[in-house]
Amino acid sequence: MHIPRAGTLIWYYFICKREVWLMARSIVPEQDHDLVAMGRWIEETTYQRSRKRINLEHVVIDVMNVEKGKILVGEVKKSSRYVKSATMQLAYYLFVLKQKGIHAEGVLLFPKERKRLQVVLDERLEQELLAVLRDIQAIIRKEVPPPPVPCRFCKKCAYAEFCWS
Ligand code: SF4
Repeated sequence: MHIPRAGTLIWYYFICKREVWLMARSIVPEQDHDLVAMGRWIEETTYQRSRKRINLEHVVIDVMNVEKGKILVGEVKKSSRYVKSATMQLAYYLFVLKQKGIHAEGVLLFPKERKRLQVVLDERLEQELLAVLRDIQAIIRKEVPPPPVPCRFCKKCAYAEFCWS
């Protein structure tokens, strides 16, 4: 199943389903906050140093290491606050690589918290990912967005005025 900007939508899926719908429909919020700015928020949670990136069609993946033929992809994160979003986004990248015949493993690093999270696309994670992708498709096919549900992200969300005024 092909969903444009699926990596980004997966990130937001675990934060706000309404935002998934709005982003998928390219509904642009206030002028100061375009979709690029929203994507930047994901970037802000990620360290930019020593990146080697590979571009696979619509997906850009950070390569951490290549050792004995095994590719390790992932990211160095500033905090584990959005760990579910980051994990499932990485699972999606592993899935895209797998579809290209590339076996890779994932890792999320949180140096400030001295944490390291291995992400392996096993059967369970792949099934969970596919269920998420199906649900994203179902959300974006709806005529109207899901109703707003207050969450801790609303305060910094570019759609806040649209949702709450
Ligand atoms: S303001 Fe809140 S409810 Fe509205 S899209 Fe943003 S996160 Fe979702």
